[in-house]
Amino acid sequence: MGCLQHCGRAFGLALLGLLAAPLLSAQASQPAAAAAQWDLTDLYPTPQAWRAELERVREAAARLSSYKGTLESSSTGMLRGLDAISRVRRDYLRVAVYASLNADTDIRVAANQESEQQTQSLGTLISEQTAWLAPEIISISGDTITAFVAAEPELGRRFGYFLDNTHRGAPHTLSLEAESLLAAAGNVLQQPGNLHNQFANAELKFPKITLSSGESVQLSAASYTKYRQVAQRADRKLVFDNFWAGWKNYEGTLGSMLTTQVMGDVFSARARRFDSALQSALFPDNMPVDVYRRLVSEANAALPTLHRYLKLRKRVLGISDDLQYYDNYPPLFPPAAAPAFDIDASKRITLEALKPLGEPYLAQLKRGFAGRWMSLYPAEGKRSGAYMNGSAYDVHPYVLLNHNNDFDSLSTFAHEWGHAVHSLLAHDAQPFETADYSTFIAESASIGNEMLLEDYLVANAKSREEKLYYLGNAVESIRTTFFRQVMFGEFELAMHEVLEKGQPLSGQRLSEMYCGLLRRYYGEAEGVMKIDPAYCIEWAFIPHLYYNFYVYQYATSMAGAAYMTDQLQKPGATGVQARERFLNLLRAGGSDYPYELYRKAGLDMATAMPYQALIARMNRLMDQIEALMRQR
Ligand SMILES: [Zn+2]
Repeated sequence: MGCLQHCGRAFGLALLGLLAAPLLSAQASQPAAAAAQWDLTDLYPTPQAWRAELERVREAAARLSSYKGTLESSSTGMLRGLDAISRVRRDYLRVAVYASLNADTDIRVAANQESEQQTQSLGTLISEQTAWLAPEIISISGDTITAFVAAEPELGRRFGYFLDNTHRGAPHTLSLEAESLLAAAGNVLQQPGNLHNQFANAELKFPKITLSSGESVQLSAASYTKYRQVAQRADRKLVFDNFWAGWKNYEGTLGSMLTTQVMGDVFSARARRFDSALQSALFPDNMPVDVYRRLVSEANAALPTLHRYLKLRKRVLGISDDLQYYDNYPPLFPPAAAPAFDIDASKRITLEALKPLGEPYLAQLKRGFAGRWMSLYPAEGKRSGAYMNGSAYDVHPYVLLNHNNDFDSLSTFAHEWGHAVHSLLAHDAQPFETADYSTFIAESASIGNEMLLEDYLVANAKSREEKLYYLGNAVESIRTTFFRQVMFGEFELAMHEVLEKGQPLSGQRLSEMYCGLLRRYYGEAEGVMKIDPAYCIEWAFIPHLYYNFYVYQYATSMAGAAYMTDQLQKPGATGVQARERFLNLLRAGGSDYPYELYRKAGLDMATAMPYQALIARMNRLMDQIEALMRQR
């Protein structure tokens, strides 16, 4: 999924820099593979032009505080101030994209990292120069704002959503003195996540183990991910036993870290007069708490479908005694059955698979493929993973891949282009101010593409084995993106509620709570899987638990995607209308609250509908697997 880096809003203000030394030119580093590298001259013709622009934006940013106190003067005055700030932000993002993409092209080039830091300090300057903005808007009466918007249509068109969203924060905005205190505490409240990152990625050490083949493996997060998939069951158990024992040694310390994080969330929520940490976390998106609760209740109602999958897995893997937690990871069917997908095949197949989205969608894809918008292949010093960066509103999205010709590469390709086309459609239809969309919507656009791709590959596979491989992948992705993320979401909610009730938390208590969830989700009482308490320390490993109710959006997005892709593939007018609603959802960008945008697209995320569509899809995929297995 890898959305953490590419999601528009999360990315938005995170980058920027000034070029202190010449940037590494992509063309210079890879003369033979120029077309494999993105062309950043679409952003700025030369590093010098970029540096000059950075200086210009810095000077413009330094003048933004002069608009303080002018917004209430008149509708024209309000438009003038908001327009000046918006222009600086827009230009800043373009400058930031250039620095960020250059830094990721080769992370070993110190000058590029310094440039990125310089853009980050410009971002900080903009925040400081506009810190007065939200308080000033909140201090203006709603009636005045309504009158201004009526008098100045451009104000409503570009800034209506922003004004409403900012004004909405009034009940949770404190006195100047209290706000300064909270701002000063912000850095302290971020430290549990930093502690966990430092401990988990740098200081926690694991033993060396010897696999049944005689291979010696130094355990780490990376080797855990690799070796938990091996076919030898005893080796999987060995990997699990040693990896989780490494975490278990620090259960108390890790429990304190996470408890401190949750205490911070509860503190901030109470300070801002929210009823709960959940309500506070959902507030920025104006997401009804009902959506979260509905997601959890529907996932629980669908556990028999997850259990059906686990029983199928047990049968396919040929496990005769109890299914164990470490049996989740080996692929259901061997990947060798799938052909290789080079970049040309990935483009061709993606265009074929996304045909149900219609010509206007495909036209945007072709436009993207014709440009040099992608960094395609792994290279020394290049950032790992994949992302789409659509923050340069006046230019076009850029896509970073590490394509290595396997099915995952193809799937990632379709996923990231889902984000890219979303940005293209939103940028065409929206002014800069309302183009940037929320994560809640973003992942539907990309996961929907993955689903259409899966269905296309299954339908066009050359052999039964190839079909089974795609089907196995598609079902497993529902376990990991839906059920697993909802389980994390339930765990997050439970942790916060314990502290909100004034009860204590500890590492041991967290492990007990996590054990309870694993047993319920994986059906221990139903005889589906046996949960070894030694693995209930898994919570300590999950960095997302420090992101304050973030992961639920993966699950809601997948459900939304399942519903939308179902609908738009319906024959006749129903399908055509559903396709238009989906494209309009993408075109709407960030012009309204994400829950409302979904509703306009015909989908109420607080009802059972999207979740049941996803579960129906999972059952359909398993029906196909079982039918193919009977053909043996
Ligand atoms: Zn994504």
